[in-house]
Amino acid sequence: MRRITILSGKGGTGKTSITSSLAVLLARKEKIIAVDCDVDAPNLGLNLGVNDSDFSWQAIQTSEKAELIKEKCNGCKKCLSVCNFGAIGWNDKENKPIFNSLLCEGCGSCKLICPQKAIKLKKVINGRIGFARTNYGFTLLSGQLKMGESGSGKIIALLKNKAEKMAEKQKAEMMLVDSAAGIGCPVIASVNGSDFVIGITEPSPSALNDLKRGLQVVEHFQIPYGIIINKWDLNKKFSQKIEDFADKYKIPLLKKIPYNKKFVKALINLKPAVVYDKKFENIFWSIINRI
Ligand code: SF4
Ligand code: SF4
Repeated sequence: MRRITILSGKGGTGKTSITSSLAVLLARKEKIIAVDCDVDAPNLGLNLGVNDSDFSWQAIQTSEKAELIKEKCNGCKKCLSVCNFGAIGWNDKENKPIFNSLLCEGCGSCKLICPQKAIKLKKVINGRIGFARTNYGFTLLSGQLKMGESGSGKIIALLKNKAEKMAEKQKAEMMLVDSAAGIGCPVIASVNGSDFVIGITEPSPSALNDLKRGLQVVEHFQIPYGIIINKWDLNKKFSQKIEDFADKYKIPLLKKIPYNKKFVKALINLKPAVVYDKKFENIFWSIINRI
């Protein structure tokens, strides 16, 4: 099975919309499985017309929080100095620490330093993963981080693991991964194990800057990649700058997609662009052929 990941450093470049159209066309050629790894803001389901209630969800625990075992604590205050996340306060009345679960990242430093073994790490439900059948003949897996929780990278790792198992069961020939945005843990977990990465950018300095940072992560893993300039004609001068950059570093430019209001209309109607208007098929077939 080949694994293709669609990435963009910056949000709003059209990454998910491009992923949904590629998935619909690819599914006509071969058995695919799609994975929405943008667990902070998963929207691939919406793009494919899949509602939240269509998914079979499963709560997951990939995050831990510090908790005090009161009877063991002697008030030595050693734990107060180790938390880099400002999650430990002090209760003068009880002469014991207070743990703020919203700030705790579960790093375990306080547990390590406590001489009384008065701190434990407790697993918490920090998200959910689920799967649904789309109307386009393939399964979509999606993950969601619970509001205010941490551990999105671990949720993605778990989600991809489940996707691998499902792909094997379904004898899928291709896995299409809609990556999280940014350059942190969620992106690393998204691109890890990919055979090819498609970087999406738009003609603006911030999009290019963020794409460059994202591609550094891809290069670190030595994964081949190409780029797409979405809405390229909104700023032709800057698009040329991106092309020059691609030329200079020998990055394949897979496609320049022109701006078209119908892309927005397709989104509003919860349809991939190629379904909303067959005219767009040529654009996406040419991307698939280039890959
Ligand atoms: S587990 Fe880490 S983040 Fe949480 S309170 Fe302890 S030191 Fe702070
Ligand atoms: S280090 Fe342990 S014993 Fe000391 S104050 Fe913190 S929790 Fe209590």
